[in-house]
Amino acid sequence: MEKFQESMYQLIVETSTKLPKDVRRAIVRAKARENAGTRAAMALTTIAGNIKMADENVSPICQDTGLPTFKIKVPVGVNQIKMKEAIRNAIAQATKDGKLRPNSVDSLTGENSGDNLGDGVPVIKFEQWEKDYIDVRLILKGGGCENKNIQYSLPCELEGLGRAGRDLDGIRKCILHAVYQAQGQGCSAGFIGVGIGGDRSSGYELAKEQLFRSVDDINPNEELRQLEEYIMENANKLGIGTMGFGGETTLLGCKIGAMHRIPASFFVSVAYNCWAFRRLGVKINPETGDIQEWLYQEGEDVDFAKELEKAEEKASVNMGETREIVLEAPLTEEQVRQLKVGDVVRINGMMYTGRDAIHKYLMDHDAPVDLNGQIIYHCGPVMLKDEEGKWHVKAAGPTTSIREEPYQGDIMKKFGIRAVIGKGGMGAKTLAALKEHGGVYLNAIGGAAQYYADCIKSVEGVDLLEFGIPEAMWHLKVENFTAVVTMDSHGNSLHEDVEKSSLEKLAQFKEPVFK
Ligand code: SF4
Repeated sequence: MEKFQESMYQLIVETSTKLPKDVRRAIVRAKARENAGTRAAMALTTIAGNIKMADENVSPICQDTGLPTFKIKVPVGVNQIKMKEAIRNAIAQATKDGKLRPNSVDSLTGENSGDNLGDGVPVIKFEQWEKDYIDVRLILKGGGCENKNIQYSLPCELEGLGRAGRDLDGIRKCILHAVYQAQGQGCSAGFIGVGIGGDRSSGYELAKEQLFRSVDDINPNEELRQLEEYIMENANKLGIGTMGFGGETTLLGCKIGAMHRIPASFFVSVAYNCWAFRRLGVKINPETGDIQEWLYQEGEDVDFAKELEKAEEKASVNMGETREIVLEAPLTEEQVRQLKVGDVVRINGMMYTGRDAIHKYLMDHDAPVDLNGQIIYHCGPVMLKDEEGKWHVKAAGPTTSIREEPYQGDIMKKFGIRAVIGKGGMGAKTLAALKEHGGVYLNAIGGAAQYYADCIKSVEGVDLLEFGIPEAMWHLKVENFTAVVTMDSHGNSLHEDVEKSSLEKLAQFKEPVFK
C-alpha cells in the first residue's frame, strides 16, 4: 500500500499541475481561431503562458484545485478500504506540499479542515471489473465551473429557444442553453459532459462520467456522435468566447452519454468544465502498487513555449486597437473614471484579497486595513509558509465574482474601494455602485493562477486568517498584473453586452434540427 500511496500522490500532483495532451491540443486549436489583438486572443495567450509556468514550476494550474474525484476500477479481491486510506493520505500530503489548495469546508460551521479531507471528501468511487489491473482516474473540477452545471427536466421552456420536448431536438436545445447560461463564469472556453436520462443524481453522474472521455474520441452511438458534432459547431457561434470577452471559441469539447430512465422523468444533465480541465489516469499493478501506464497520452503534445513565441509575434503586429493603461494603486476617483470597458490595465502596487467570508465580515465590521482607494482582489490563493514563517504564493488566479454581488457595491462605498478584480463579472447592483461612487470592475483571466502568482512580488501581510487560507485577507504587492475593464463607472458592462448578443444568437437555433 505504501507504493500505491506514492502512485496516488504522483497522480494528484500531475493532474493538478499538467494539463493532459488532448486538452492542450484543444486550447491551441482555440487560440488559432482568434484574431491577434482581440481580448479573447490576449486571454488565451495568458492561459498558454500559465500552462507553461505550471509545467515548469510543477505548481497548480489553477488555485482552485476543486473537489478531487477518483473513479477506480479494481480486480476482484483488492482491498478497497486500504486503497481509500492510501488515497486520503496522498491527498493530505499533496495539500501540505502546496499542490492542492485546502478546499474542504464543513458545510455547517464553515471551518476549513486544512488538509482536503472531510465527510465525503475526496470523492472515491469503486467498481469491480474482470481485468487484472487497477484503473484510477482523477478529475479536479473547480467551483467556478461546477456552479455552472445545470439539469433540465423535459419538457421545459428555454429562454431564447422556446419549448424543449422529450426528444433528440429537445436535448439539443438544452445543451445549447447550458453553454449559453454558463457565459464566461465557468472560465470559458469550456468542455461539457452531458448525461441523458437516469434520475437527478445518476444523470449528473453520467454527465461527469463523459468528462473522462478523451476530447478526440468518437462517440460509438451514431445519433449522439452527430449531436456532439452539431453542438461543437453551433455553440461556438454564440460569441461568448474566452472568459466571456466575446470571440470565436466558447466550447472546446462536448461528450454525450445516454442511459435508461423511468417513463415519468426525462432529465438532461450537463457538467461544465473550465479550460483548466484537469483529469488524468493511471493503470496500477495490483501486486506492487506501481504505475504501469499513464492514460490520456495519445497524440501529439503541445510545446506552450513555442506557442507563446508565435502569439507574441502576431500580437506585436496587431495590438493597435486595444487601449493599455498602467495603474499604480492606490487609485483616485479621477483615474478610475477615465477607464472604459475594453481597456487593458496593468497594475502595480498593493491589492487585498477578499472573497465570501471577507465580504460578509466587512458588512458589519471595520476593515483591518485602510481600504480607501484600494483594490480588492476576489481570490483564494494557494499559500505556503516557509520555515522562517514567511508566506509564499503558489497559485493566485481570480475567483467567481458574482457570489459577492449582494455585498460589493455597499462595501465599495463604505470603505472607498476603487477597483474590484475577479472573473465572470457582476450584476446590476454593483454596476450602479460603480457609477455612483466611481469604481471599476476588472476581469482577470480565470484559471491563470501561475501567471498571477508571478505578478505578486511580495506578501506584505495577512488578516483574518481564522477564516482559512483561501478566505483570509492577503496583502499583496504586485507588478504588471494584467486585467480587462469589463464594467466601468459610466454604466457599461461587457458581460451584459455579451449576454444580450449571445441570447440573440441562441434564438437562431430555435427551429428543429433533429426530427
Ligand atoms: S479555471 Fe476558473 S472555473 Fe476552473 S477551477 Fe480555475 S477558477 Fe475555477
